[in-house]
Amino acid sequence: MALRRIANYKTDDVLRKKSKYVDEINEKIIKLLDDMAETMYQANGVGLAAPQVGILKRALVIDIGEGLIKLINPEIVEQEGEQQDIEGCLSIPGITGEVKRPNRVKVKALNENGKNVELEGTGLLARAFCHEIDHLDGILFIDKIVPGTEKNINI
Ligand code: ZN
Repeated sequence: MALRRIANYKTDDVLRKKSKYVDEINEKIIKLLDDMAETMYQANGVGLAAPQVGILKRALVIDIGEGLIKLINPEIVEQEGEQQDIEGCLSIPGITGEVKRPNRVKVKALNENGKNVELEGTGLLARAFCHEIDHLDGILFIDKIVPGTEKNINI
């Protein structure tokens, strides 16, 4: 495994591009997911999407403290309710803000073995799924901050 450089919203256009579907799960993708997990843990994040390490592929990792989730081609197939809470992003250091998200989502994806998986998340996990899947479409949480809740923190 290896650490990868995390893209920054101020300098890296890659964060605004749409990622491509992964059509073959090969060693490269498996290594990418491993590296992303290591990079996320090292940065104390709860999620990381491939564009954040400069790769425009639909792949992400999440760990909200309940174990590592690696997803390929994830899609939200169901959502319910609403929650509003603070978010931040490893690519947007120093800014936090509240974002409205569904309270429960169901996600369909492939795991690293190429198997179809369906995962359900509520609360923070639902938020993490939405935030990371947004990255695959070039959408950042700062696009969605509820007005008046943005904070600049010194890091
Ligand atoms: Zn992010």
